[in-house]
Amino acid sequence: MRLVIKVGTSLIAPGGKIDTVRMRALVDQLDLSRHEYLVVSSGAIASGMVHLGLKEKPSSVPQMQACAAVGQSLLMHTYEQLFFGKKVVAQLLLSNDDFTSPVRYKNLQNALNELLKLGVVPVINENDSVSVRELVGAFGDNDELSGLLATAVNADWLLLLTDVDGFYVPNGKRPKIVRTIRKLTAEMEALCDGKSNLGRGGMRSKLRAAKAASESGVHVAIVNGRHPSAIPSGMERKIGTYFPPHDGKS
Ligand code: GLU
Repeated sequence: MRLVIKVGTSLIAPGGKIDTVRMRALVDQLDLSRHEYLVVSSGAIASGMVHLGLKEKPSSVPQMQACAAVGQSLLMHTYEQLFFGKKVVAQLLLSNDDFTSPVRYKNLQNALNELLKLGVVPVINENDSVSVRELVGAFGDNDELSGLLATAVNADWLLLLTDVDGFYVPNGKRPKIVRTIRKLTAEMEALCDGKSNLGRGGMRSKLRAAKAASESGVHVAIVNGRHPSAIPSGMERKIGTYFPPHDGKS
């Protein structure tokens, strides 16, 4: 199977410090001899910020660009180490144009398919140091990117790993998790509050990415990446919120 695993800033770089223990625990859950994986990793801006000694998320776009460039190299260094002796990793930094221009889209698909054929694990992030439209919030985040990517590589699964257990709805005093979403409604989206702290996404953007990917035939789950077996348990639908593919893939 082909899987896209998206890891959020709050999961792997909470407060801006790269959590290598958490990242190792996630890499150890990958069944590298059986499946193909693409990792969409956030955490560049937050970790770059801390590495540069900045106390809070910069408000100026050039500062964010600089943090992204510094943090991206730290992130890749960490992935290189975690996959050492297991798999070769490759870095791809993408922007919205790579999905909207037919020529660039085809080139992206060619590159990814070749990497997967070579047994490489692509590690993907937004190209935040130059692709500023994403940074200023005019377009998307890594949740959306991972949805587009899952479609581009015809993935079987998209797992959106975050720091909450899934999508919750109000239920008296104890909100309850929705285990399966077949059709995302405007009411569900309206229940999402705010954005995450250091990353750009939030539950709303995860729901939208999940909707888009499931509509193009991908199994999607939003799961808590802190769970010790987040990836296999998410795929077995034991945890998280699951979106079945719309074309009847099973
Ligand atoms: N690309 C950003 C980063 O690596 C994160 C964007 C997002 O949170 O979706 O810091």
